[in-house]
Amino acid sequence: MSVKQTQRRPFFCGNWKLNGNIAESVELATQVRNGVATWRDVDVAVAPSFLAVHAVARRLEDGPVAVAGQNCFWEDKGAFTGEVSAPQLVEAGCKYVILGHSERRQLFGELDAAVNMKARAALRAGLTPIICVGETLAERDAGETLGRIQAQVDAAIKDISDEDLARSLIAYEPVWAIGTGRNATTSQAQEVHASIRERLAAKFGRDASQEVRIQYGGSMKPDNAGELMAQPDVDGGLVGGASLKAADFAAIVKARNRSGS
Ligand code: PEP
Repeated sequence: MSVKQTQRRPFFCGNWKLNGNIAESVELATQVRNGVATWRDVDVAVAPSFLAVHAVARRLEDGPVAVAGQNCFWEDKGAFTGEVSAPQLVEAGCKYVILGHSERRQLFGELDAAVNMKARAALRAGLTPIICVGETLAERDAGETLGRIQAQVDAAIKDISDEDLARSLIAYEPVWAIGTGRNATTSQAQEVHASIRERLAAKFGRDASQEVRIQYGGSMKPDNAGELMAQPDVDGGLVGGASLKAADFAAIVKARNRSGS
């Protein structure tokens, strides 16, 4: 039996991807903060592009909205041209980091083993990793969804301790739903979220698995967030396109407890 989501604090993160200059990012962050400022029963973060992270973090300092990096490297420093380390993200004001996003996997060839090394580097630095997993349309059509997701989860959490798992997040993002306007149905999302939790339970025990928040991502919008959030194993959202409009993102966060209060 799943613990209902009401016992896990909902968490929403806006993934701004490669959008917005520094001034626009600070402005959007301010609007997001103003939109969600009075809601105390939810965790909210935004993930600006790297160059805007520091300015956004300064604007959001001491407020309810946290900042996430969109990626990090697995080494802390050294001759790794073009990379950004987990300690650097912490210094710039990040609390979270998105790892293994399907765009990283598909466009930049990021493999499961790299996601695991990055997750361990993030945890070492004190960041909370948001580990993304998801199947392609071809994998879904071939009936391989749950196997693919389990393999990604297993690889990503390899050698991560129980304590570190408890402060990690998983985001289920079907690749075919990202940026396409086509979201997973509630039953598709719930089926995969429940299977992720089962996988975590098999490795870490049922109690630990019940602690882990599993976000849904993939064309989450104000008009579908409520029904997705009504699923027992959906604990929030990783939101791309809709997070670029503060009002839409706030409307999604508002759906956190089904009643939308
Ligand atoms: C994402 O990129 O993480 C995402 C979920 O994008 P979108 O909401 O635009 O589908």
